[in-house]
Amino acid sequence: MSDSILIIGGGIAGINAALNAADYGCHVYLMDDTPSIGGMMARLDKTFPTNDCSICIEAPKMYEVDNHPNIEILTNTELRKVKKTDQGFNVKLVQKARFIDPEKCTGCGACIEACPVSIPDEMDGKIGGTRKLVYLPFPQAIPNIVAIDPDCRYGNMREQGACVGGCVVDCSQCRECPIALCVKACIEEGKDAVRLWQSNKNLKLNVRAIIVAAGLMSYEPEPGMFGYGDCQNVITNLEFERLMNAGGPTNGEIIRPSDQRHVKRIAWVQCVGRGNKEGLLPYCSKVCCMIAAKQMIISKEHDPSVETLIFYNNLKAYGKDFWAFHQKAKSLGVRYINTRPWDVFEDPETRNLKIPYVNPETGQYVEEEVDLVVLSTGLIPSDRNPRLAKSLAIEQDHLGFFKEQDPLLAPLESGVDGVYFCGGSLGPLDISESVAQAAAASMKAVLRMKDGS
Ligand SMILES: Cc1cc2nc3c(=O)[nH]c(=O)nc-3n(C[C@H](O)[C@H](O)[C@H](O)COP(=O)(O)OP(=O)(O)OC[C@H]3O[C@@H](n4cnc5c(N)ncnc54)[C@H](O)[C@@H]3O)c2cc1C
Repeated sequence: MSDSILIIGGGIAGINAALNAADYGCHVYLMDDTPSIGGMMARLDKTFPTNDCSICIEAPKMYEVDNHPNIEILTNTELRKVKKTDQGFNVKLVQKARFIDPEKCTGCGACIEACPVSIPDEMDGKIGGTRKLVYLPFPQAIPNIVAIDPDCRYGNMREQGACVGGCVVDCSQCRECPIALCVKACIEEGKDAVRLWQSNKNLKLNVRAIIVAAGLMSYEPEPGMFGYGDCQNVITNLEFERLMNAGGPTNGEIIRPSDQRHVKRIAWVQCVGRGNKEGLLPYCSKVCCMIAAKQMIISKEHDPSVETLIFYNNLKAYGKDFWAFHQKAKSLGVRYINTRPWDVFEDPETRNLKIPYVNPETGQYVEEEVDLVVLSTGLIPSDRNPRLAKSLAIEQDHLGFFKEQDPLLAPLESGVDGVYFCGGSLGPLDISESVAQAAAASMKAVLRMKDGS
């Protein structure tokens, strides 16, 4: 009988579930389909309600996972097939090639420096962040191993100046590369870790239980919605997190994407993308009011003279200490305006943004002018959920999150015995809720293993 469990998703929920189960003696496979564990929390600047530095809290946990004798991390890995057995599950996975020997790479970065091509990166591309074709997703990434962009390896980036590809002999035949600058730099460092001929690896596991911790994504506004996409100085709340972040593309300077000028007036528009029409989110994402309050407080910490206003609908301060957090934001001088602006327009000369709305107190038409607009967009299900649902034979709810067996009495159980949920895979929630659910889901998996049931 296998004493292993599989956790799908290496965000803060998956990380905590892995550590709990591993401390109870389970062998844990923690898989993520991206090159690093960390999830959404690794992108955030600070976290409400304490405003602690997000990565400073998460990175030690990631490090603990990496060094735990009972945990095996499988990044760049996708679930392919799951077969239920009397004892648990037979699972087939595919680990996509990183084109790097993980035993030899130390994350020294010599290859990154040597790579001649920069492209917009996954985290910060929209606000000017770039990465090389060989890259570490973020400085604290676990595993601390670079990855080579498959587009580079397969020769699709030649026009952009990539040195790899375009040879008469394919990398899978030729096991040394005299042209790739990353290969050369790595050999010069004495490591020889680049493996351009590496192929995807099929993995088979037998596990007693599976925890789905596949998390959530940030909603991307339709082009033109409140000026998004048309006006460079209209960004989302996730992009603003990156703008405030010392590890982000501006090194934490809150400057405008259009002209790199320090921002003096910021407006947040809440509930962007929410509504009853097709393509809009028919639910409240719960955390956005606190995210806006947090971002406003941090903006004031950066520059106390910055003017801030928040256009909101129904204020949600549902958690412990959240009301006090909202009051703190108000005490710093933010103007909360209980209305929905009509739209956002750009002044073509200054690139400032004009926001027309009806003042809820006077009924008068008013217009505000600001340097930067932050759209508070909601949290949506991971786009990989349908595939996961199919492989695991579990159900999604009408919104696309996973469906619990019973929302009141079995909120972490799926319809399949031995498959549990935690974190954002069930719906929008905050970090402390994700961590609490992770503890409960991992206990269910541990008990199943210990009981032999
Ligand atoms: C802008 C913004 C600011 C926020 N600020 C705060 C804050 O200040 N305080 C707070 O408490 N909360 C905050 N939150 C919410 C917080 O980010 C979430 O509560 C938390 O990230 C949920 O963690 P999770 O592990 O469930 O999901 P995630 O962090 O989304 O992690 C899920 C992981 O699963 C992986 N994955 C997904 N699908 C698959 C698959 N099919 N196979 C393999 N791997 C998969 C993903 O790559 C990811 O690594 C914020 C959210 C946003 C968008």
